[in-house]
Amino acid sequence: MHHQITASIYISDNEELNDRPRLGYIKGSKYSVMIDAGNSPAHAQLFLDELKMKDLKTPDFVILTHWHWDHVYGLSHLDIPSICSAKTQAKLIEMSQWQWDPISMEARLISGEDIEFCDSCIKVEYEDPKHIQVKTADIIFDKFLNIDLGDLNCLILRVDNDHAEDSSIIFIPEEKVIFLGDITSPNYHKGPEHYTLDGITKLMDALEELKFDIAVHGHTEVMSKQEWMDFLQIEKDKLKG
Ligand SMILES: [Zn+2]
Repeated sequence: MHHQITASIYISDNEELNDRPRLGYIKGSKYSVMIDAGNSPAHAQLFLDELKMKDLKTPDFVILTHWHWDHVYGLSHLDIPSICSAKTQAKLIEMSQWQWDPISMEARLISGEDIEFCDSCIKVEYEDPKHIQVKTADIIFDKFLNIDLGDLNCLILRVDNDHAEDSSIIFIPEEKVIFLGDITSPNYHKGPEHYTLDGITKLMDALEELKFDIAVHGHTEVMSKQEWMDFLQIEKDKLKG
């Protein structure tokens, strides 16, 4: 189900069992964009179907927040131009070489290229993971890109953080909304989940500068800027001991 959170912004529900993240839709007077491609072709199609039910047009672009499977494996199903940072693209290129037979999947868990949590959610989402096709993006930026959607700006900023090095946030200043991807979450890929003092400080500094009221995270309830800053401050204080 899509929820309208401001005059021009809609979000879908996240799902926990198969780790489907919340996706976003921003509607300008010229263009509309989709935030993240979903974790599978089925997830991407569900999002498009629900747009149609709300009489919203098919998005003109899709922006990828970061490389994690649940945000990008739906891309192969979308025939609209896709946008991501060069760091995200590098990971997409790497994953596009991955094989999806059980032995290759197991080997990636041993090498640390993939983690148990993703592996088990992939097996819930896909009846046969062999059908996974990782597609690369079409439009690549380094640190910053602004799209004029028509009466609405869509600023994409790659920000240093702990969750995934390539992560970008999407800021819509006119609506005071930010899409976080999962950027406020810890690092799950290198050992036990954790933040670093450097990562959390850089992230908090970047968020502090942006004037937003509503923050959309892929896997949490919609929260305010203050709620996230308080949350991150607690995590930061724990690191200082
Ligand atoms: Zn993630």
